[in-house]
Amino acid sequence: MIAIYPGSFDPITLGHLDIIERGCRLFDQLIVVVMRNPTKKPLFPVNQRVEQIRHATRHWSNVEVDSFDGLTVTYAKKRGAKMLLRGLRVLSDFEKELQMAHTNKTLANDIETFFLATSSEYSFLSSSLVKEIAKFSGPIDHLVPQAVALDIRQCYAKTPPIASPLIAPEPQPTLESPPVLWPTEKPSGSVE
Ligand code: ADP
Repeated sequence: MIAIYPGSFDPITLGHLDIIERGCRLFDQLIVVVMRNPTKKPLFPVNQRVEQIRHATRHWSNVEVDSFDGLTVTYAKKRGAKMLLRGLRVLSDFEKELQMAHTNKTLANDIETFFLATSSEYSFLSSSLVKEIAKFSGPIDHLVPQAVALDIRQCYAKTPPIASPLIAPEPQPTLESPPVLWPTEKPSGSVE
């Protein structure tokens, strides 16, 4: 049986790879598809994400990597796949994933969604978390494949985040704007 594992993979994490490794033992062929998500502003272009995943999955002979701009079920039909593979981490994933699975069922009744629960060590891990850490030069080598960590660091080295103060400075009163008083309050020394 052919299964499709669709996602943004921006970038691929060890959590995604864990799902791929377990998925390719369950299905004859697993196609990882980088989907263009118009609602997300990606760090890496689609073709670079495809290359990153190809490199990270090169040891698994029944894993193929592709990209697609359109509906997941359209891609699945094109490839003759009857199964969509998705990963579940937390309760919020479940709500979103269930809605997506039901929607896909209305679009293609013969295509099923297969959920794999995350391995506990990756239950906290997401692509956005990795980007958040990398943005502030934190360590990411334990969260993504080595080559991807290098790409991310290069990316942020080119466009470092704008430094912002942790505590906003207190606004200083100016002569033009005297301190605001409660209507009942009178400046000291004022005459009735
Ligand atoms: P999407 O934009 O489609 O959610 P993602 O790349 O964020 O794309 O995720 C693709 C799939 O991988 C989703 O089903 C998501 O729940 C799953 N996934 C992401 N991170 C993990 C993880 N750490 N463990 C298990 N599944 C994960």
